[in-house]
Amino acid sequence: MSFRATVLTLYPEMFPGALGISLAGRALERGDWSLETVQIRDFGLGRHRAVDDTPAGGGAGMVLRADVLAAAIDYASAAGDERPRLLMSPRGKPLTQARVRELADGPGAVIVCGRFEGVDQRVIDARGLEEVSIGDYILSGGEPAALVLLDAVVRLLPGVMGNEASGGEESFENGLLEHPHYTRPPEWEGRPIPDVLMSGNHGKIAAWRRQQSEKLTRERRPDLLEDRGI
Ligand code: SAH
Repeated sequence: MSFRATVLTLYPEMFPGALGISLAGRALERGDWSLETVQIRDFGLGRHRAVDDTPAGGGAGMVLRADVLAAAIDYASAAGDERPRLLMSPRGKPLTQARVRELADGPGAVIVCGRFEGVDQRVIDARGLEEVSIGDYILSGGEPAALVLLDAVVRLLPGVMGNEASGGEESFENGLLEHPHYTRPPEWEGRPIPDVLMSGNHGKIAAWRRQQSEKLTRERRPDLLEDRGI
């Protein structure tokens, strides 16, 4: 069974979007993963197919209704569907490479994209939605966040990346940022490639990369080292 993504959104035309080209797009065509969108408005109420309403307690903006969203979720993810149900949300747990890998190892994901001020808390609780954030900033909707999450997942699926080896050495895979890269020409605008990389000594090269990786991580992301207990 290949990875199956179902995205609940008010803007299905945003999908597959960037995921329809390059690696992810070719993998989609091959059937290495599948993508289905569900238009939340199809479950809207009344002649105008209303999906939102004013916030209880007052305040600005609109809130996605629990009853409408629940109907869409129940349609997209019937009993027995083992895929995790995610809600893209700035209040969620920040997405990590570890969670991305778990998702890629699983059957797929049902992804709810919020809009407006967000969604009624009761549907989050009642349908066990896992809130996932892609960073500490506010998007106008969950769709770009869902595209980001799926991009990160799809490149890890078997057969998607041409060079399988590159996956394991990437930033975050070993809890560190990746070392710098260089390619031809050997000198550019007076800047040479570090000698060690031209030495052909694989042991030394590996040690240099490791040391660069640790240095960069210490300088830029000391929090990652703390997470590893270093
Ligand atoms: N009022 C909310 C923000 C709503 S933004 C708050 O202050 O927390 C509208 C929708 O965009 C959200 O429901 C969510 O689905 C999506 N979104 C915005 N920022 C996001 C982020 N950093 N990560 C994931 N989803 C995000």
